[in-house]
Amino acid sequence: MAQSPRVEKESLVVSFINNKGAQAKPAPLCYNIFMRFIIGLLSLVLVGAVVNYWLMSDAAMCRLPVQYSIGQIDSRFNLTNEEAKATLAEAEKVWEDSLGRDDIFEYKDNANLRINFVYDERQVQTNEITNILDDLSMRGEANEVLVELHKRLVDKYEEYEAKYETLRTAYEKNLTAYNAEVDKYNRAGGAPKDIYDQLELRKKSLDKDRDEVNSMGNTMSQLVDQINSISEKGNELIQEYNTKVNRFNDNYINDEEYTQGDYKKKEINVYSFSDHHELELVLAHELGHSLSIDHVNNPESIMYYLMGQQPEKLTLSAEDIDAFNASCNQGWVSRLLTPLKTMYNYLNYKK
Ligand SMILES: [Zn+2]
Repeated sequence: MAQSPRVEKESLVVSFINNKGAQAKPAPLCYNIFMRFIIGLLSLVLVGAVVNYWLMSDAAMCRLPVQYSIGQIDSRFNLTNEEAKATLAEAEKVWEDSLGRDDIFEYKDNANLRINFVYDERQVQTNEITNILDDLSMRGEANEVLVELHKRLVDKYEEYEAKYETLRTAYEKNLTAYNAEVDKYNRAGGAPKDIYDQLELRKKSLDKDRDEVNSMGNTMSQLVDQINSISEKGNELIQEYNTKVNRFNDNYINDEEYTQGDYKKKEINVYSFSDHHELELVLAHELGHSLSIDHVNNPESIMYYLMGQQPEKLTLSAEDIDAFNASCNQGWVSRLLTPLKTMYNYLNYKK
């Protein structure tokens, strides 16, 4: 394929020289060499264009299955080869299960398409965010425990309070009655022996009631101390929590979005993921690019340019499936146009 245009072009131009040099005058040597050089150069450009077209078409033709292998995994990801391979198999299944076929992707040792895990400041930041969110979640949980404890103590206090009121009211009523009785006998110059003994018994019983009321009062004030201390701790915790949330929002939420992975010809690079699910999504997305599929508009799609709204159980959206069909199940007309599309995509660096 690379040889034939060259010969053809050259012979055409030679005959042109012969026609022009009709008066049997041989063309000057220097002119000849110059033309040969130009023709050679043009032929090279033509051959280059043909080869390039062929390569681009080949790349864009979505030849299935796309074979991939694992390239470099930076050890700082704490990800073994086996884990990477297993997650890739899951990402592969996202496509294959949704499309009802199993010939889209295939792992093959040393396949040209390499999946690399490149560790840089993006993963450092992802780790920081994960740690802060873990810390916040722990604080949130601790606060929930305090709120629950606070509620239980307040319930207990209210229970005591009701009993205390009943006891205290009864005690005060009995005490008033007792004092009135004592006054009455005192005004009469003293009580007879049997009444006196009865009054002494009532006094003892009243003293017992008073001790009970006081002891319950002490328990209640201890409860109040506990409740206040928990409230104080809870407030401190909430204040710290809010400070940390604000700092987090200031530092991370308004940050520019960053690329978690990208696909370049023969290479998928993964830069950051916070957990297994996110890694599966990044891989499924980049594998989609390896099928020459572009971004689609539905935020729940695997091929949406941002992550966040895809379903927990990853699956292709209708838009993803349309994009797959447009890229991999196309007719010959659009197939002829794909090299242009591929070149356009190639020039526009893809996330
Ligand atoms: Zn992308």
